Amino acid sequence: MIVFAGGCLERIAHAVERAYPEEGCGLLIGRRDTARKLYITEVAESDNVAIGQRNRRFEVDPALRLSLMRRLRGTADDIVGHYHSHPDGTAVPSAHDAAMVFEPELVWLIISVSARRAGDARCWQWDQTTGSFLHLPHRPNLRTGST
Ligand SMILES: [Zn+2]
Repeated sequence: MIVFAGGCLERIAHAVERAYPEEGCGLLIGRRDTARKLYITEVAESDNVAIGQRNRRFEVDPALRLSLMRRLRGTADDIVGHYHSHPDGTAVPSAHDAAMVFEPELVWLIISVSARRAGDARCWQWDQTTGSFLHLPHRPNLRTGST
């Protein structure tokens, strides 16, 4: 189970709506409570620095990641995952996403956006055993929030 602190999912939704029709992306900061529970305490919006095809590709700014790693050093929190949007697509990892798994410990949040409106958000983690993404439940549900 992945538990998002209040406002995190709304921030992501607004950021990816602004990025539309390009993919929006950013980092998820949090801590593992137990082996089965991960808390996301903060999100950091990134520019999408992918070269070309930014409606179908994303890359988190490495400078953002470095500055976060510096800031989080010695705290309980760490970079535990990232998010990106699928403009006019579903919240399911693409074959390209699967090819881009370099750090299997990171959680992937994928959020669909259509007509500049954020929709379905789902969390995934790469499973080395099956060689595929596994869906991880999360709460709260974006649409039951304050928006
Ligand atoms: Zn993707």
